[in-house]
Amino acid sequence: MATRWDLIVIGGGSGGLACAQRAAEHGARVVLAEPGPIGGTCVNAGCVPKKLMYHAAELAHGIADAADYGFDVALGAHDWGALKARRDAYVRKLHGVYLENLTKRGVTLLTERARIAGPGRVVIGTQEQAAGRIVIASGGHPLVPAIPGAELGITSDGFFALERMPATVAIVGSGYVAAELSGVFAALGAKVTVLMRHDRMLRSFDGMLSRRLMAAMTADGIELVADAVPAAVSGRAGTATVELADGRRPGPFECLIWAVGRTPNAAGLGLEAAGVALGGAGEIVTDLRQDTNVAGIHAIGDVTGRVALTPVAIAAGRRLADRLFGGEADRHLEYRNIPTVIFSHPPIGTVGLSEEEARAQFGDRVAVFQGDFMPLYHGITERRRRAEVKLVATGPDRRVVGLHAIGMGADEMLQGFAVAIRMGATKADFDDTVAIHPTTAEEVVTLRG
Ligand code: NDP
Repeated sequence: MATRWDLIVIGGGSGGLACAQRAAEHGARVVLAEPGPIGGTCVNAGCVPKKLMYHAAELAHGIADAADYGFDVALGAHDWGALKARRDAYVRKLHGVYLENLTKRGVTLLTERARIAGPGRVVIGTQEQAAGRIVIASGGHPLVPAIPGAELGITSDGFFALERMPATVAIVGSGYVAAELSGVFAALGAKVTVLMRHDRMLRSFDGMLSRRLMAAMTADGIELVADAVPAAVSGRAGTATVELADGRRPGPFECLIWAVGRTPNAAGLGLEAAGVALGGAGEIVTDLRQDTNVAGIHAIGDVTGRVALTPVAIAAGRRLADRLFGGEADRHLEYRNIPTVIFSHPPIGTVGLSEEEARAQFGDRVAVFQGDFMPLYHGITERRRRAEVKLVATGPDRRVVGLHAIGMGADEMLQGFAVAIRMGATKADFDDTVAIHPTTAEEVVTLRG
């Protein structure tokens, strides 16, 4: 006899936890299935441990700059193992907090695999559970190219398991993970090579960000290899050589990391039997209300193949719970103007349309305001990294549709500007805002036309 619930959530990552807890706050009886560590990618092999590594890298840069600020310190050896131990301990602490939060809200956690058995029926472990609603939030995992020798490389998951820092690292990719991990390794002293399959980092972002980031990466000693399409990997683990399609053979590398995107975790969930439609990339197809094609089955987060960011999964999950159990019939996430930060060195903050996207959409009606400058911090340091900001506006009222920033503080300043852009701020609104001096953010409100 199946136990009856109002909601079964499959997956205890950011989206699943947010949806389950919000539904429980609305009074729903909720069971959540998560066979792995609670918190999913973000907590265990993503945002949280990554940001700690980012801080370590920023500290390394800070120590290198410290002499210019009058400190008698030198950048000594870095103990990767000690940092990893503290990082892992922090993640374990978060597990405790997350479990406590579930208990507090009355969500039942079952630490077993789930498979949809039919309409409103899910087998979790060996037990059948039944509910009016099923939410799939099973996340995604890093892709590994299907080429000979690919197993000699690791992914971002393997990065977080590294017990010591490799001396030489190759990262294949040019997106978020390649930008972030290459910066960490380089700051902590590894020799880093980034293999980009085209000619630029962050190809889907505003060109200004790519250009400025590549200059900073090069200045940090990272070797950027363009038009590098891996055809095979030879050697052994610890001495991998990448064989590129054009015959070049960079390597050997002690560590090879695939950072070529992620793919949805949609296998083994019983989706085919339940009739849930999948898209071309294996993602669960959902509409804007997170509904699948099967009544009563919904999906949120990375498994839907939409903007694969933790806060997006959380926002979609909470809104879905509000709609299903909170009486808010139209509540759903607008997948527009989603701010995002790339924790590169220096960091990047970006929201809205790139200049390229805006010109394709609005043509001549686009106005661009751009400026680059040396942050005051670097005014007295030997190590100098320029910052750059860009506003993209359209129409006679010059509504701001994109903001792109790279440089010290770009990560922290973006959130507030994202509110303004969401509210429809114009260039005149930015101009009318009194600057905060001296900051990186002030450049955004002092750009000349
Ligand atoms: P991205 O989608 O950011 O980038 C994938 C990269 O892989 C692209 O640069 C692409 O190159 C390249 N690529 C794809 N296929 C191949 C191939 N066969 N050979 C060589 N290169 C290839 O993926 P990531 O893995 O970096 O990150 C996954 C996702 O995780 C991100 O999209 C993001 O949603 C999320 N994430 C978010 C972070 C944050 O919020 N700060 C941090 C890390 C990850 P090209 O562009 O030239 O086509």
